[in-house]
Amino acid sequence: MIQDTIAAISTAVGEGGIAVIRISGPQAVDAAHAIFRSRTDIRAAASHTVHYGNIADPRTGEVIEEVLLTVMRGPRSFTAEDVAEISTHGGYVSVKKVLDLVLQQQDVRAAEPGEFTKRAFLNGRIDLAQAEAVMDLIRSKSDRAFSIALKQVDGKLSRQIRTLRGEVIELLAHIEVNIDYPEHDVEEMTSSYIREQCIKVISQLDRLLKTADEGKILREGITTAIVGRPNVGKSSLLNALAQDNKAIVTDIPGTTRDVIEEFVTVGGIPLKLLDTAGIRETTDLVEQLGVERSRNALNDADLILLVLNNHERLNQDELELMELLKGRQVIVIVNKTDLENRLEIDRLGQLYRPEAIVKMSVLAEQGLDSLESAISSLFFSGLLETADMTYVSNARHIALLKQSKQSLFDAIEATNSGIPIDIIQIDVRSAWEQLGEIIGDSAGDSLIDQIFSQFCLGK
Ligand code: GDP
Ligand code: ZN
Repeated sequence: MIQDTIAAISTAVGEGGIAVIRISGPQAVDAAHAIFRSRTDIRAAASHTVHYGNIADPRTGEVIEEVLLTVMRGPRSFTAEDVAEISTHGGYVSVKKVLDLVLQQQDVRAAEPGEFTKRAFLNGRIDLAQAEAVMDLIRSKSDRAFSIALKQVDGKLSRQIRTLRGEVIELLAHIEVNIDYPEHDVEEMTSSYIREQCIKVISQLDRLLKTADEGKILREGITTAIVGRPNVGKSSLLNALAQDNKAIVTDIPGTTRDVIEEFVTVGGIPLKLLDTAGIRETTDLVEQLGVERSRNALNDADLILLVLNNHERLNQDELELMELLKGRQVIVIVNKTDLENRLEIDRLGQLYRPEAIVKMSVLAEQGLDSLESAISSLFFSGLLETADMTYVSNARHIALLKQSKQSLFDAIEATNSGIPIDIIQIDVRSAWEQLGEIIGDSAGDSLIDQIFSQFCLGK
């Protein structure tokens, strides 16, 4: 049973016109009441109502902020506890002052990172996969990644996992019956049933794993390098791409704006552009350090945007660079089409597929849409592969899906080699437990702590 009440600033610090301080727990409404001056007594307020008033220091009477206060009674709140949310419109200093006042109230303490979401989980409002999805939502860097995370919060993944577990449990039950009543002598039928059922679940696991791959790419962005010799327009292109793609704004409760500058979304696909300095370095490397060393710098990129100048003939460096990039995913950008053509386009046509050549003029703002469609069709054709993932939450899902697939393979193999059924049962049970861990049914406390500690403060 959770006794204490927690509070934190739930919006990103230092940006935006509005900040929200969230208070959750048994004392949430009382604590808010103690510092809130208004015509209504919020302790008697109905759930899900918004109240206008001032925040004042109860000891000095000093008014700090003009606010809107929202009262949500558990269990119909994000945490399933009583929640009060104070929306202020001031800058960081006054927001901090309001939070300090809240924290001075009895039985209220500062929330740890992820603690609101953790409470939602502990109170049974969401399962572990959903909690992780909340984290992904906060971090998601493109509209598509956002909608995938949103589906997960909605419980889509969890539902699928539960269905699969249902199939496995059925199989387990069947095996159990055979162990308990071996005299039924349905040996042969059981083997084929085990095989069939395992294959059925494995193929569904494969499907999930495939979407997990896609989710991974979308969440993390495709590592992209912009290369080309000096003055072809690399920086201009970067700026054009970054211009209106910086922020993902969500108005889902519990999420905040997240500005991640090194990520841009092009045609719905998030790209992790090697940071500006990195791009300059990479591109200049080609010039200054020669082909050999730039090879290493380019190794990390999943996608390479090779920028050429329409107004000049291909030079030796560029030909070498193209040689170097053979076998990689390259989109050739013929920039400066507003100027007279001197570049040997025919020659490019021999080296690259037509879809991989994009003509544009960054200066005249022409052709960006062609670049967008080139990138998204490359992505959706499955040609873009990305490097390893870094987020533990998704690595965890994928690892468990794979383990459970392996357990089922083991069960099939055991069946094929006539191993006793009670041994096979162990494999099937493992598969069931591994799936359970994804949604937190069999996850230990330490795992749960680890997952929630990855959240940022106020979530
Ligand atoms: P970088 O050295 O490859 O990063 O190239 P920059 O982006 O710094 O651009 C070099 C010069 O080319 C600048 O003066 C740009 O304004 C100019 N430039 C960039 N794109 C175009 C374009 O599409 N057409 C023309 N005419 N000039 C461009
Ligand atoms: Zn530049």
